[in-house]
Amino acid sequence: MAGASASEIRTIGVVGAGQMGPGIAQVCAVAGYDVRLQDINATALEKAVAGIAARLDRQVAKGEMAAGARQETLARIRTGTALESLEDSDLVIESAVEKEAIKREIFERLCPIVGKNTIFCTNTSSISVTMLAAHTDRPERFMGMHFMNPVPVMKLVELIRAISTDDATCLTVEAVVDRLGKSPVMSADYPAFIVNRVLLPMINEAIYALHEGVGDVAGIDKALRLGAAHPMGPLQLADFIGLDTCLAIMRVLYEGTSDSKYRPCPLLVKYVEAGWLGRESQRGFYDYRVEPPAPNFRGLRPV
Ligand code: NAD
Repeated sequence: MAGASASEIRTIGVVGAGQMGPGIAQVCAVAGYDVRLQDINATALEKAVAGIAARLDRQVAKGEMAAGARQETLARIRTGTALESLEDSDLVIESAVEKEAIKREIFERLCPIVGKNTIFCTNTSSISVTMLAAHTDRPERFMGMHFMNPVPVMKLVELIRAISTDDATCLTVEAVVDRLGKSPVMSADYPAFIVNRVLLPMINEAIYALHEGVGDVAGIDKALRLGAAHPMGPLQLADFIGLDTCLAIMRVLYEGTSDSKYRPCPLLVKYVEAGWLGRESQRGFYDYRVEPPAPNFRGLRPV
């Protein structure tokens, strides 16, 4: 058999219960799939289930979901700390920490645990899908499935074919995305795919504009909001994504393409070195310790 068809996917395994995995598990369970959510950290799993329950509660309170459907959705999610808990999965979506060695080990260990027709997907933002596929016994049944954060809210899923992926796998995964109520866009297996390839250089350029004194924090954000109809200014968005994440993606683009146009702005590097990582750490291009958040700019030049 070339691969499981869309109707044969009943159980979805999700590896990793950090920022992304619980959202993926939630949308799969809401769509009617049985879900196996796995993480080596039991506390992360407890937090994940509590977070999913709280989000579903809000949907019930808003009248978007029936109380019975909430119960059924939660009942479809099983958690476990061992990879063996994924053994009956027809599709596994790996969303563990962004470390190549860890992802390779997860897939290598999963191969003998799951059925031979089980499809593997990775939610990686930056690691070569083709390389990860090559470390499994089923490179033709392997794809990138790149969700956006927060998963229950964002409609897009970027789909990345490894050079080895077969058509049946691609069709099956596209059908799953459709059933999740999401919309797929195909991207080549290329550093940062489409969204981050376009979005992060724009944010990096806004930081260069700040660094070079073209505008100030509030002015640059206002300019893009009112002048380009962006819902959020690029510096505010950078704080929201996390400046460490922004820097990591710029480095992936810079190193992955060897093109100097992707060089990270030195001001971004310095903010990350200072531990000013954005909203999570209370300080980035804005200071979130005050209400409303105040622009936070320190230039690199001596004064
Ligand atoms: P995270 O750091 O929040 O969580 C990672 C989780 O993986 C942790 O709970 C950790 O305990 C678990 N983990 C580590 N080693 C493991 C192992 N061997 N087996 C099982 N679980 C293990 O990471 P995240 O932000 O949720 O990102 C997960 C993946 O999603 C990454 O590949 C990342 O690139 C991708 N991604 C992240 C975002 C985002 O905005 N955060 C967006 C799209 C894609």
